[in-house]
Amino acid sequence: MIYKRSSALFAEAEKVIPGGVNSPVRAFKGVGGTPIFVKEAKGAYLYDEDGNRLIDYINSWGPMILGHAFQPVVDAVVEKAKKGTSFGMPTEIETEIAQLAVSMVPNIDKIRFVNSGTEACMSAVRLARGYTGKDKIIKFAGCYHGHSDSFLIQAGSGLSTFGTPNSPGVTQGTAKDTLLANYNDIDNVKALMEANKNEIACVIVEPVPGNMGCIPPINNFLENLRILCDEHHILLIFDEVMSGFRLAKGGAQELYGVNADIACFGKVIGGGLPVGAFAARAEIMNHLAPLGPVYQAGTLSGNPLAMAAGLAMLKTLNEDAEIFERLEAKTKYLHEGIARVLTENKVTHTINRVGSMISVHFDEAAVVDFETAAKGNNESFKKFFHGLLNEGVYIAPSAFETWFITDALSYEDLDFTIEAVNKVSKSM
Ligand code: PMP
Repeated sequence: MIYKRSSALFAEAEKVIPGGVNSPVRAFKGVGGTPIFVKEAKGAYLYDEDGNRLIDYINSWGPMILGHAFQPVVDAVVEKAKKGTSFGMPTEIETEIAQLAVSMVPNIDKIRFVNSGTEACMSAVRLARGYTGKDKIIKFAGCYHGHSDSFLIQAGSGLSTFGTPNSPGVTQGTAKDTLLANYNDIDNVKALMEANKNEIACVIVEPVPGNMGCIPPINNFLENLRILCDEHHILLIFDEVMSGFRLAKGGAQELYGVNADIACFGKVIGGGLPVGAFAARAEIMNHLAPLGPVYQAGTLSGNPLAMAAGLAMLKTLNEDAEIFERLEAKTKYLHEGIARVLTENKVTHTINRVGSMISVHFDEAAVVDFETAAKGNNESFKKFFHGLLNEGVYIAPSAFETWFITDALSYEDLDFTIEAVNKVSKSM
C-alpha cells in the first residue's frame, strides 16, 4: 500500500506538533515508519488520506464498539449541535445518561461525568483519599490509568515498595505514595497492605488489563482483591475505561461478579466523544463538591454533544440483548482462526482474550502480568504489524495494546483478517 500523502502530512505535523501527534501511542515509535492519517471512517473500515481502506482493530482505542460513524450517535450529535454546543449549566440529558448508566452498572448510585479516562481515574483516587483520609495507593505494573502524575509509575522490580517516577516531571513526593504490585499476584498485594497498615486509601486496577496486551484475571484474583481490601478498609477502584460497557453491560463487575467501590469509565461511555466518568455508592459520591469537601470540576463536563453521543451509545447497548454475546462470538472466531494459521506456519505465539478484547503475543509462555507481557518478541511483532498493514488490516502499532472488536466487523472481514495473518506469518 502507498502512504505518500500520510507521510507528507506527518512531516508537516512534526513541525508544529511534538512528534507530529497529540498522543504518543499514535506515533509508530515501537514499529517504525510514519503514522497513517485518517480521512474518514465508516463501520469496520478506516479510509486514509492516500485512499487505502483498512479494517480497523483499534477503533479509537476502544470507544467505537459498534463501528465508526454509527448512525444513531451521529444523528444525536448533529441534532444537539444545532441547539448549542456548551452552556456550563445543567441540562436534562446529563440526568438521562446518568440514570441509564446507574441502571446498567452494578453497585453504583451516582456517577459524575468528566472529559477523559485520565480525569476519571485521577478524580476517583482523590475521592478515595478524601473518603478514607489516607494517602497511599496501590497500582499494578503494566496497568495504565491515564497520564496523571501518581499513575506514571512503573515497577522497577515487582516487589519494590516505593515507586520510581518513569516520566520526568513526576516528583519523588508523588511517587512515594504509589505502591506497585504485580497483576495476578495476590501475595504481593497482601504483603504491601501488611507493610503499609492504615496508610493505603485504595487499590486501583484494570480488572481486565488492556494496556499490556489483554490479560485475564486468574486464580480468583479480583475476588481476592475484594477480600483483602475489605479486611484492610481500603477502597477498590476498578478502572473500567476499557472494559466498561464492553465486556458486559455492567463491565467487569458484572462479568466477574465482583463489586468495586469506585468504577471509572471512558471510551465506550462517550460514543467517541471526549467523555470519562466515575461512579460509586451514594455514601462515597456524596463526599464530592458541592455536597462534600473533595473538589472536582470541569467547564466542559457533561457537555451536551458528548452526552448525546454517550446516551445514544448506551441506549443501543442496553436495548440489544445479544450484543455482548455477538461481540464475544466474533472475537472467539478471530482468536481461533489466527491461532490456527500461526500454528500451521510455526509461529510461536500466545493469544489472550476476554470478551471482545484480544491480543497476540509472540512468545509461548502464558502472559499473566507485565513481566510476561514484556517477554514477547518485538521483532516478530514489527513484521506482523507492517505485514498486516500492507494487507489492509490495521492493528495498534505496539505489542502492548489490545485489539478491540466491533459489532461492525462481518465474518467476511474476520476471514479476510485471518487470511492476512496467514500470508504474513508465512514469512515471519
Ligand atoms: N484507563 C485505562 C484502562 C485506559 O486504557 C486509558 C486510555 N487508554 C485511560 C485510563 C486514560 O484514558 P484517556 O486516554 O481518555 O485519558
